[in-house]
Amino acid sequence: MSALSPSAPFTFEPNANPVPEAERMARLKDPGFGKTFTDHMVIVRYSEGKGWHDAKVTARGPISLDPAAAVLHYAQEIFEGLKAYRLSDGAMALFRPQANARRFNASANRMAMPELPEDMFIESCRALVKADADWFPDIDGGSIYLRPFMIANETFLGVKPSGDYLYIVIAAATGNYFKSGAPAVKLLVAEDDTRAAPGGTGAAKCGGNYAASLRAQSQAIARGFDQVVFLDAAERRYVEELGGMNLFFVFDDGSLQTPPLDGTILPGITRDSLLTLAREEGLAVREERYAIDQWRADAQSGRLVETFACGTAAVVTPVASVTGKDFSFTIGSGGPGQATQRLKQRLVDIQRGTAADIHGWVMRL
Ligand code: PMP
Repeated sequence: MSALSPSAPFTFEPNANPVPEAERMARLKDPGFGKTFTDHMVIVRYSEGKGWHDAKVTARGPISLDPAAAVLHYAQEIFEGLKAYRLSDGAMALFRPQANARRFNASANRMAMPELPEDMFIESCRALVKADADWFPDIDGGSIYLRPFMIANETFLGVKPSGDYLYIVIAAATGNYFKSGAPAVKLLVAEDDTRAAPGGTGAAKCGGNYAASLRAQSQAIARGFDQVVFLDAAERRYVEELGGMNLFFVFDDGSLQTPPLDGTILPGITRDSLLTLAREEGLAVREERYAIDQWRADAQSGRLVETFACGTAAVVTPVASVTGKDFSFTIGSGGPGQATQRLKQRLVDIQRGTAADIHGWVMRL
């Protein structure tokens, strides 16, 4: 039961105290990632028996939660991440928001949360970008990163699915994801921690997965690496993904390999887009498990020529080297390889509207 029809417009309450223009322009010169927030946010409420209601775009600001709100205790929370771009002709667009809407509902399902009508998800993103259109940074790679999320909001300490939820979308002007803008990243293999087990929540975009990845990630940073690569929980042998990106391997015969979607990795939308583009180019593509020992042997023999990580935030990022407990190897030249560069360019050209969008991935606002 839904009190709001998916096509019903969001009520708009303009922010009475937006960031002054001069300050906004100053912040947009170097927005970084995930910290230069816009003036508005979306909020929609869900109540048991009533469904989704009171959809609005309103001034961005703190929300108040009862200290017994279920999310604070049992982490019943999911989120998404997608970008709004300015196309080369100046129009605003979202990239494959339907895929994010579907993945959001798959995450909701895993976490025993109510689904959000896909139209409402897309409309919430569209309404927020339109309200905050002044926040597109006019810099290379600039975009507005959208963070839709849902939290359990029932005031009750019993362990059960919450009856009430909040769906919120916030937005941040965004430049490069990696602080250094690094051309290639150095990976450390997580030896002690795993990210997801069979039957667990690895394929859902829930906050708990990220909390569980933070210790390994911060240990890696402390040792001078950029990212952690997680192995499968059962055998500690197969390469899964990074804390926030999927991995692709490129071989000397031009073929590509990426770990399969078997429930322990996030089904990345960038991953899916690149698989489609690679197949279109006639490349052989395998969705198959890849063992860490094989990765090392192939890098050393020269059979493996490139590895890259991909995701919405950092798009496509080459991997320079991989370090484990008792080994370290460099991939190719340690810099960006040809296949990595070409696939990245093809994707970015579609996202920015300079190449034909034959798949209907770009949604103009
Ligand atoms: N894996 C994980 C764990 C992630 O958090 C993300 C980012 N959403 C990805 C992969 C890449 O997914 P996408 O291409 O949809 O951004």
